[in-house]
Amino acid sequence: MLFHSTRGGDKDRTFEDILMQGLACDGGLFIPDFWPQVDLESLSTKTSFIDVAKEVVPLFTSSSFSKQEVLRILDNTWHDFDHKDIAPIKNLDDKTSILELFHGPTAAFKDFGLQLAAAFFNEVLAKNKKTAVVLGATSGDTGSAAIDACKKFKSIKTFILIPDGNMSEIQRKQMTTINEDNVFTLKISGTFDDCQDIVKAAFKDRSFLNDNQDLLAVNSINWVRIIGQICYYFYASCKLTNFDQKINFSVPTGNFGNVFACYAAHKMGLPLNKIIVSVNENDILNRFFTNNDYSKKDVNETVSPSMDISVASNFERLIYDFYCNRDAELCNNLYLSFPTKSINLPTDIWEKTKDLFLSYSVDDSMTIATIQGIFKSHNYLIDPHTAVAAVAVKKLNKDIDCPTLILSTAHPAKFPNSIEEAGILIDEIPKRLSEVFEKKEIVYEFPVNKSAIFDFIASKN
Ligand SMILES: *Cc1c(COP(=O)(O)O)cnc(C)c1O
Repeated sequence: MLFHSTRGGDKDRTFEDILMQGLACDGGLFIPDFWPQVDLESLSTKTSFIDVAKEVVPLFTSSSFSKQEVLRILDNTWHDFDHKDIAPIKNLDDKTSILELFHGPTAAFKDFGLQLAAAFFNEVLAKNKKTAVVLGATSGDTGSAAIDACKKFKSIKTFILIPDGNMSEIQRKQMTTINEDNVFTLKISGTFDDCQDIVKAAFKDRSFLNDNQDLLAVNSINWVRIIGQICYYFYASCKLTNFDQKINFSVPTGNFGNVFACYAAHKMGLPLNKIIVSVNENDILNRFFTNNDYSKKDVNETVSPSMDISVASNFERLIYDFYCNRDAELCNNLYLSFPTKSINLPTDIWEKTKDLFLSYSVDDSMTIATIQGIFKSHNYLIDPHTAVAAVAVKKLNKDIDCPTLILSTAHPAKFPNSIEEAGILIDEIPKRLSEVFEKKEIVYEFPVNKSAIFDFIASKN
């Protein structure tokens, strides 16, 4: 199994290549050369998340790791979860359930992808006798999940850039209270876009690296993160219906990574009815799925900040695979002029949407009202991202006549302001979240000045 780029200019790459490289050379995103098929019968006998992952992950890694090696890695990959099931399911009513993906150490679903990425980074570095700098920009949960996943590996130094902006206090403190000598959180007096520009420039510059050192990206386009997420779609479906029935997934999304993992699972054999693409007021995906209009607009700050995006980076993979039927030239042409020119597909191609996707855009007041409503009716507290996905299910109810799983991507205690706005008192804060308030914050402050930042990385490296 090898990988190639959605834009056709980067081909025949191994799992190790794409793991360490992230983005393809031609600016496209890596995708497997074909969709490996799972054995549903064998999967349906698995009872634990890890056992499901052991069937799924090796389908993508054979170009770089033996099956034996991967099974050993997976035994040690997902750690510090506070629930024995790793991804437990809570039934709301006889048709609707919640897949709780927030039991990892940073209380958001990004632990699934990033713990897998870090485990493979560490293996490759050890094998090649190298070290690495992990560099990323974050406005939400990516940074803390990356830090937590990488901090135990001494071959990796992690530098995370955060903006002055719409991030909850807990989200920030999860990154600034780590106190490990291989972890650095840099607060940039600018926007998330400024942080991203600095990261992009760093990947060109590389002057701050030592000899025999890799620079690694942890943004959501890295394929290994998608693999980690594919696993819980199979696990959840197996638990809920044993693959006997088609089900719907409602996915709260921003960069489309989590939705693409759902789509990938379907291409690998998961029986699915509809994928519900649930977004906040930053609605570029909803405008595409309901109106064939993928056009960039400015970002609005919302109560679901981890989905505040202007474009959805992983969406290119869907354009390439689902709409363009893997025609790289077509995909390349659409993306070469984007975002200057918006993406509007020929109508007959866009019509395919109806076969698999539904979409809904939710405003903040509806999000808060739904947190309130579900708490009142089910005595169950959800976070604002999960609430977005719950609203979509309610609104699209007449179109989805089979069991539905709502993905719960974060623990509600991560967003106390929204919970308070809903008039609810949080009576249970997981220890891993409350303890950040007792720890000292260590944060390095910088203006938007890339050479000062590169010098800092060099000095700590
Ligand atoms: C990152 C994040 C999302 C969005 O995930 P995508 O893969 O970009 O769709 C949703 N909810 C939470 C809590 C997140 O941290």
